[in-house]
Amino acid sequence: KRTPVIAGNWKMNSGSPAEASALLGGLLEACPKAPACEVVVCPPATALALAADTLRGSAIALGAQNCHFAPSGAYTGEVSAAMLTGVGCTHVIIGHSERRQYFGETNETAGKRLAAAVAGGLCGILCVGESLEQREAGQEIETCAAQLAGGLAEIPAEALAHVMIAYEPVWAIGTGRTATAQEANRVCGEIRRLLAERYGTEAADRVRILYGGSMNEKNAAELLAQPEIDGGLIGGASLKPESFAAIIRAC
Ligand code: 13P
Repeated sequence: KRTPVIAGNWKMNSGSPAEASALLGGLLEACPKAPACEVVVCPPATALALAADTLRGSAIALGAQNCHFAPSGAYTGEVSAAMLTGVGCTHVIIGHSERRQYFGETNETAGKRLAAAVAGGLCGILCVGESLEQREAGQEIETCAAQLAGGLAEIPAEALAHVMIAYEPVWAIGTGRTATAQEANRVCGEIRRLLAERYGTEAADRVRILYGGSMNEKNAAELLAQPEIDGGLIGGASLKPESFAAIIRAC
């Protein structure tokens, strides 16, 4: 049985020391001390050092929202995997749809970032998911398949243990419109089938596949009860300690 994972993606919120301290303090107070799942929070880069200090010794692991594929160099605005592990991160989100939409992330660059993250000792959370247009055209599975093929291009079977997949349909992100639990489960099952084609059934069965997109304390239990859904990548609700804690307790 796969251990579920609840990961909070703060996006570009609560990144100042004062805001991050307040949110982390709230999370430490509200979240279960011995959760039944793995818990990760992914603050903005400016709050990672402070978060590492604050979360040390707690049940909450630390992740970043992006990492570059080169170890160092002339890449203004980017951070490397070594910088992230150096500051105390164990996880990193790769290829989030907002990176794809606004910052030119492609399946190929997501693949390079994921490979560098995993080689650098991080667990990579590779995000996939179709747009509304692709959903309406019935292209959700082929979209995810292309994103997985590119994203996992440089991940050999022996590295797959350091990868999680987050299925985040773009039309469900920040919209309050969640995929139904059955539909999210169906696509996560298809993602697992695609992983099995590439890595074999046994390896695919070990990969945690999270759902993301307007997950909150009300819909979490039903989503998390689905056999193919192994957790959640939470945006808005991860900024509210009581909501995030309730989602963790729903595992
Ligand atoms: P919301 O939970 O705010 O819809 O965001 C989901 C998401 O993009 C997490 O990465």
